[in-house]
Amino acid sequence: MRVAVVTVGDELLAGETVNTNAAWLGERLTARGATVERVVTVPDRIEDIASVVREYHGEYDAVVVTGGLGPTHDDLTMDAVAAAFDRELERSEEALAWLEEHGGYVREDLTAGTADLPAGARVLHNEVGVAPGCVLESVYVLPGVPAEMKAMFGLVAEEFAGTRRYVETVAVDEPESALLDRFEELRDRFDVTVGSYPGDYVRVKVRGEDRGAVEAAAAWLRERATLVGAAERE
Ligand code: ATP
Ligand code: MG
Repeated sequence: MRVAVVTVGDELLAGETVNTNAAWLGERLTARGATVERVVTVPDRIEDIASVVREYHGEYDAVVVTGGLGPTHDDLTMDAVAAAFDRELERSEEALAWLEEHGGYVREDLTAGTADLPAGARVLHNEVGVAPGCVLESVYVLPGVPAEMKAMFGLVAEEFAGTRRYVETVAVDEPESALLDRFEELRDRFDVTVGSYPGDYVRVKVRGEDRGAVEAAAAWLRERATLVGAAERE
């Protein structure tokens, strides 16, 4: 299952807020066996949000959108998702009834627009905050507040699946360029992919669907590379 993640917010683009939602979703989706193929951040602007949602909805099996829910002026995500599907926003009776029953709110006190969702969307209740999310076809719309986003993702996590991939990390104390021949041999010998991530040392990630092959490949490399001592790894 190929998934795109869209994070919405001017504050993310300006670097005022670190995009922890993208990292968290990438990790959770990957752990479930889905493949995250795009992570994009867009400003709080209807046309920008709508155009990536429209494009990625056509391109990927699912799209996860976070941020910009709720009734304030810069919360435009629901309008944009509705626009991407050429639908209207409608007050969701189901969402309002849930907020009254479980959230302890009186509907007259809720800011107008709080429970407006694209017509025909499935409601995702917000167990931590107020603004509901929704699912429209294969587009999942979640809040931006990390605690709210995580709780709501829990409601739909099982809808994301795929072949689980295994990963082993080998920390190597050699220049990346010196490792190229061993990487090639590794890929020839084992049914794995090899990722190399340089930093203070090179983190080599061996990935594959067959756990035995991944473990054997990592062991093969550990025997043939200068490894970083445990104390030097963070
Ligand atoms: P609410 O449902 O409470 O209205 P929201 O969906 O409107 O939330 P935003 O208004 O986009 O969310 O952002 C709310 C808060 O969550 C802000 O403090 C914002 O910085 C933070 N936030 C939004 N997106 C992310 C993200 N991708 N990673 C980390 N924090 C985020
Ligand atoms: Mg908001």
